[in-house]
Amino acid sequence: MAKQLGFYVDQQCCIGCFTCQIACKDKNDLQPGQLWRKVREFQGGDSLEDKGVFRSNVFAYWLSLSCNHCEKPKCVENCPTGAMYKRTEDGIVLVDQDKCIGCGYCTWSCPYEAPQLAGKTVSKCNFCIDLQQQGKNPACVDACIMRVIEFGPLEELRQKYGKVNEIKGLPSADITLPSLVLTPHQKAIK
Ligand code: SF4
Ligand code: SF4
Repeated sequence: MAKQLGFYVDQQCCIGCFTCQIACKDKNDLQPGQLWRKVREFQGGDSLEDKGVFRSNVFAYWLSLSCNHCEKPKCVENCPTGAMYKRTEDGIVLVDQDKCIGCGYCTWSCPYEAPQLAGKTVSKCNFCIDLQQQGKNPACVDACIMRVIEFGPLEELRQKYGKVNEIKGLPSADITLPSLVLTPHQKAIK
């Protein structure tokens, strides 16, 4: 493979505004209930009484996640028709709508809930390849008001930001090797 494209998300600076999720839905004209990029909220902590004084350590953080165009994509491995495939030139994982029979195997295989059945076939994030072909950024990247989403060759993202690709609440990265680099929220560090 010439290069593997990936996403970078700075979780520390995400304010959970959902703009990326809406921009993706709008750009791809998705049906009600269908989300190719989803902002997930994680909450935890409690308030403890200590000699009449309440101390709170409650927290909340968000993670904006789409298909991770994994290096070991279970969706591709388990698709019985070859509809789900990984491009050799940049590692983007796509769905051939003509080959998809809507069996849903990919939706059960993906630990990130990325492929979604809508109507008779499955669809998911295609890395905005149409915009990339025009030299533009994926819609989520440009829409984020905090500029927490970047994309590019995975190796370059790792050199810039490190190699964290899982946090508390996400499945083990060993399962699919997601093309994802994260700067985790301090409460999300594994
Ligand atoms: Fe496949 Fe899910 Fe990985 Fe996307 S995130 S490539 S749908 S396994
Ligand atoms: Fe492949 Fe479509 Fe079945 Fe998913 S729903 S496994 S893409 S044929």
